[in-house]
Amino acid sequence: MTEEAKTKAIEIGAGLLLCITAWAVTFYYRTSRTAETILFLLPYAVLSVSTYWDLIRMLIRRKFPDENLLMVIATAGAFCIGRHREAVAAMLFYQVGKFVEEISLSRTRKSITEYIDIRPEYANLKTGRNTEKIVPPQELKPRQVIVIRPGEKIPVDVVVTLGTGTVDMKALTGESTPRAVRPGDHLYSGSINLNSVLEARVVRCYEDSTAEKIMKLVENADGRKAANIRFADRFTRLYTPIVILLALLTVLLPPMMFDKDRMEWVYRGLILLVAACPCGLMVSIPMAFLGGIGSASRQGVLIKGGAILEKLTQVDTFVFDKTGTLTEGVFHVRRIVPRNMEEETLLELAALAETYSTHPIAMSLREACARQKQRPDGRRKVNDIEEIPGYGVKARIDGHEVCVGNERLMNQQGIFYDPVKEAGTAVHVSVDGEYAGYILISDIIRPGAERLMKWLHRKNLSTIMLTGDNERVAETVASGLKIESVYAELMPEDKVELLEEFRENQMEGELVAFVGDGINDAPVLARADIGIAMGGLGSDVALEAADIILMEDEPSGIINAMRIARATLRSVRQNMGFAIGVKTLLIVLAFFGLVTMQNAIAADMGVMVINILNSFWMMKYPEQGV
Ligand code: ADP
Ligand code: MG
Repeated sequence: MTEEAKTKAIEIGAGLLLCITAWAVTFYYRTSRTAETILFLLPYAVLSVSTYWDLIRMLIRRKFPDENLLMVIATAGAFCIGRHREAVAAMLFYQVGKFVEEISLSRTRKSITEYIDIRPEYANLKTGRNTEKIVPPQELKPRQVIVIRPGEKIPVDVVVTLGTGTVDMKALTGESTPRAVRPGDHLYSGSINLNSVLEARVVRCYEDSTAEKIMKLVENADGRKAANIRFADRFTRLYTPIVILLALLTVLLPPMMFDKDRMEWVYRGLILLVAACPCGLMVSIPMAFLGGIGSASRQGVLIKGGAILEKLTQVDTFVFDKTGTLTEGVFHVRRIVPRNMEEETLLELAALAETYSTHPIAMSLREACARQKQRPDGRRKVNDIEEIPGYGVKARIDGHEVCVGNERLMNQQGIFYDPVKEAGTAVHVSVDGEYAGYILISDIIRPGAERLMKWLHRKNLSTIMLTGDNERVAETVASGLKIESVYAELMPEDKVELLEEFRENQMEGELVAFVGDGINDAPVLARADIGIAMGGLGSDVALEAADIILMEDEPSGIINAMRIARATLRSVRQNMGFAIGVKTLLIVLAFFGLVTMQNAIAADMGVMVINILNSFWMMKYPEQGV
């Protein structure tokens, strides 16, 4: 139980005791009116201090008063007109409701973090050739070597130095197929070593490691805050004044028009306030949002808050980056077409110039070169490297100026090149201003991309692709996936501009989501209504700039996110509809004097229980069948 729940329980217990005493005393002894008032004032005071206090605090902070105001007016009013027992009973029920609210919310939060608890507990630090020591993962420092046994959680982000095996990353990515690892591979904290002993070198301390970052994100994705700001606040702002107005009319109009029994109408007006109190509903909304966020994180999708979940259901256009998002971003060398040199030399020059680039093209060229090379490198000197985003790289290799990039780069450098007609991305190379040939590379479409596009089109959502690559490649990818519009040969800043344009052209309430790989798309991710980044593992930029993070490198995670978002909102709407239905009925009954204050609040508790059960489902929202 949380501290708040404990305080509530004590309040309720004390109130109940005082209440029973008051009731027994007035039942067995003939008490005066004043004595009765005092006897019931005690439990009322105990039960309602916290509510009055909350209300005062809200007013001081100039916030809009919530359902507390309704309860305070109703019970204080009832007390004043001599309905002591009713006032106390209503407050008692209200507090029990709040208690249930506190417990169910904290339990939801707890079970979510427990369910996806990926925090490691210990690490085996290697202290000598055959000795090791068990330490808390927080104490590990970069460059230390640790031993990971089968079944153990990877404590911090590491690089394997010895041993091969498989790791299970399901807790991080939602992907259940284990991944094979060998020396040189990165392991992320929170994944589980399956079947062999590995030795690994620490690359990041605990705080900066993947597991800790993910858990922080999930814990901070507070459904209550976000949901209250957007959903419940909007609702109470409209609802509270309307209810107060209705109650006033009930108190004032009938006595003026037909009935002389003023007290009876005051009482009915007060019951109306209690009946209308949306307390039960207010619990179920944040519960549903938290549940949705929890379900999503189990399926490898991190959503930063309830507001994002709500916005996601309003997205009408999905804008995709091509390289690394719809395609794997791992290019394969198709052909090497050199001029006046060996194929191998051309590839080597290109790879050397790309030594420090993190662009997918650069990584693929380096990989291809390393694979092809027979004899060890002759130690060539590379300096003055300059990367030009959207163009390529320039570098000095053994004193020669080498340019590696697209046609735009060749034009900019004033170099005559062979126009390439074949499908694929051509990486042109020049040496000292002379054209040296090109390397034709191509990328493959991610398997999930097609499934995602089919799903989006079935739901009538628009799809757009942006890329810095050439028209031919863009067309091939887009027509293969049936993407509606394509913009190619864009500079990074063009992407930002286009996205702003899309957003301006949207209709009210229709949002634009951008899906990118998070490495070179951070500015666009941040500008979209919703930024969705792929490959959250190992990329800090993605974790920070994006609103939604797909832990697995698979765009089809968006389908899960959308389904969960829609289901969450559906559950919230069902709860609202049901609660409002019951409330309306109660208000009408109250007007005709057919319910007592106790009945009204008991009905509200019933609504609360049903709403909570309905929201509870969101925690267990299943993954889509294949
Ligand atoms: P995208 O991610 O959509 O492909 P980028 O802006 O990353 O867009 O790249 C656009 C184009 O610029 C690439 O297709 C490539 O032709 C060229 N380019 C950018 N960086 C490099 C690089 N490091 N090496 C070679 N070509 C590059
Ligand atoms: Mg890119």
